[in-house]
Amino acid sequence: MNLEGGCACRAIRYKLTASPLIVHACHCRDCQRITGSAFVINICIEKKFVEAGPSVPKSFRLAGGSGKHHDVFFCAACGTYLWSRYHGAPGDAVFVRAGTLDSPDAVRPDVHIFTRSKLPWLDLPPEVPAFESFYKIEKVWPAESRERLRNLVGKS
Ligand SMILES: [Zn+2]
Ligand SMILES: [Zn+2]
Repeated sequence: MNLEGGCACRAIRYKLTASPLIVHACHCRDCQRITGSAFVINICIEKKFVEAGPSVPKSFRLAGGSGKHHDVFFCAACGTYLWSRYHGAPGDAVFVRAGTLDSPDAVRPDVHIFTRSKLPWLDLPPEVPAFESFYKIEKVWPAESRERLRNLVGKS
């Protein structure tokens, strides 16, 4: 899978050098506010598989609903929000915003989360797992991703 993308002004371009661990569609209020939309599509991937440049993104910190911080990274020049780091998430995984891919149709959500704040006019596909809040990783992630997660946690 060749996943490349970047911000609106092209000061930051990135390339994902591995396939996603999992792709979330998050319907929480924070994601709705940050995106100005109904939900965000987040590609969860190890930080080392995100090659980005030439500009370095800026970040700001949100207090997450879980009490864990959430750092949001964006382009200082155009303000496009590119990825997040959730301090409650395992290892050094980052969540890359799939709408910033050159071809956003390259991925689709594996799971919908925080559907308790999903906008009522939006119907989700019945074949994709959906959760009112979060879920248990071992019940949702494919075996290969769980194996990568074990390496990630072991090294951090
Ligand atoms: Zn930019
Ligand atoms: Zn969210």
